Formats: sequence, C-alpha cells, structure tokens
Amino acid sequence: MGANCYYMRFPEGRTKAITLSYDDGVEQDERLIQLMEQYGFKGTFNLSYGCTPPEGVTYEPGRVHRRMPFSWLKRVYASANVEVAIHGLTHPHLERYPASKVMHEIIEDRKGWEEFFGGVIRGMAYPYGTYSDEVVEVLRLAGICYSRTTKSTERFDLPTDWLRLPATCHHKNPRLMELADNFASMEISGEAKLFYLWGHSYEFEGDQNWTVIENFFKRLTGMPDTWYATNIEIYDYIQAYERLYYSSDGQRVQNPSVIDVWLGTRKGEVIYVPAGKTVDLK
Ligand SMILES: [Zn+2]
Repeated sequence: MGANCYYMRFPEGRTKAITLSYDDGVEQDERLIQLMEQYGFKGTFNLSYGCTPPEGVTYEPGRVHRRMPFSWLKRVYASANVEVAIHGLTHPHLERYPASKVMHEIIEDRKGWEEFFGGVIRGMAYPYGTYSDEVVEVLRLAGICYSRTTKSTERFDLPTDWLRLPATCHHKNPRLMELADNFASMEISGEAKLFYLWGHSYEFEGDQNWTVIENFFKRLTGMPDTWYATNIEIYDYIQAYERLYYSSDGQRVQNPSVIDVWLGTRKGEVIYVPAGKTVDLK
C-alpha cells in the first residue's frame, strides 16, 4: 500500500471534529463557556485588546453587546475548553487601513493578550469578517496561523486556506440542526470532517434563544467518533499530519513533530504514529 491510501484521522483515530468560534469578549461568553463545559465542547474566543472597557463599567439597560473588563476576562477564559485569539486591536475594517496600521492592529492585539493571558497567541477572526490580500499578507508576517472569515460553506471540509478560514455556519443559520443531524449521522471512510460553528454569544440574549446552542450541543455531545477541540488544536494537529514523512516505498511513516498523529484506511484500520517516531505500515 502506498502513502496515498491513508487518510488523516483526528486523535485516537476519530473521523470528525467540532470547534466553535465566538467574537468580541462579551459577558454572555461566560454562560456559553459553562454550556460548553457541561456538554464537552471546546472553542475559540476572539478578543480586541483595545476595546476592553474599564473595571466597573456599566451599560444602559437593554444593551446586549457588553464587553467584559480585564478582571472578568481572566476568570471567564480560564476554562480548559477555551482558546483566546485576537480580533484586531480596535476592531476595525482592516482592509481600509494601510499595511503599517494593519500590522499595528495585529501585533498590539497579540502583545496585549499574550502579556495578559501568557502563552503564544496565533489565532484570529477578522473584525466584521472583512479583509484583503494585503491584510492576509500582513497577518502571515505577524505570525498569525489562521484567521476566520464570516463566510459559511454549510459543508464539513477540512480547511485549506487557513488565513481565509470559512465556517460551516453561523448559529443563526436556519439549517443549523439539519447540518448537525447530517454531521452526526455521517459514516466516514475517506476524508475526515469538521463542523466549524461561529457567532456572538450576545445574540442568544438579544434573540432570547439560548435553546439554539443548547439543542446544538445536545444533538452533538459525546460522540465517540468526534474530537471536540479549539481552533488552534485543530490547526496544530493538521500541521503535524502534513509534516509526516513517508519512505520512498510508502511503507514507513515518520512523525517529526511533538504531536501524536493517527492515520486511517477506507477499511477502518487506524494507525498510530507517535510524536518523534517512525512506524511500519506493512
Ligand atoms: Zn467582532
């Protein structure tokens, strides 16, 4: 068998993954994260450092878009189910800015959140979902690995253009539960699949429909063939898969990365390729 007979599998040989992406660092993220923890979902929260309100901020009654001050952010995003990513320092339409100002928006946002949360922040969602080829180039130079757009594919394909990353759908999509049903019932023998959901948690308050996300979670929770992961976990895993080296006859595979990788065949065999190891495929 040659190398091309193997498909990427997610950790432990799983054939599917689900991830969430929610924007703006609003108060309602706290409830969303509690639900994610309850149902075992993971996801990424995209925050704009320069938009953080002062401690003790109060909002006029009826306002649903309420960004959290720093003290809340530290508490709410401490969850192990959460990745923090950037969303533009001041949440601008980046494509309207000169490249130098785009760089400032990206680097200062990264720097702010990296100092605040620690670690290395490499993910992003475009404010308003808008960008240009020049913006994409600046992101690449600024060390951003992926950036989510607001484009919905209503599909489950693995990402290819990570700096123009589309979603499967927004949670307001009228087909949400139909897509969830399709995803849950798919039997995968070939390419692995990804359900990528995005939105803003304040919309659940504004639309008074927290049941939308809770029903989505209930439908897709605890599936043994599914990996529940943050955006960067999926990115890093796929990078590790793409770095595999095959021997000239395709009979051996070497994993040079620090991430364990799994492969699968159409017949359902699963091959474990541990980090730093070479595995015989015969
Ligand atoms: Zn936003």
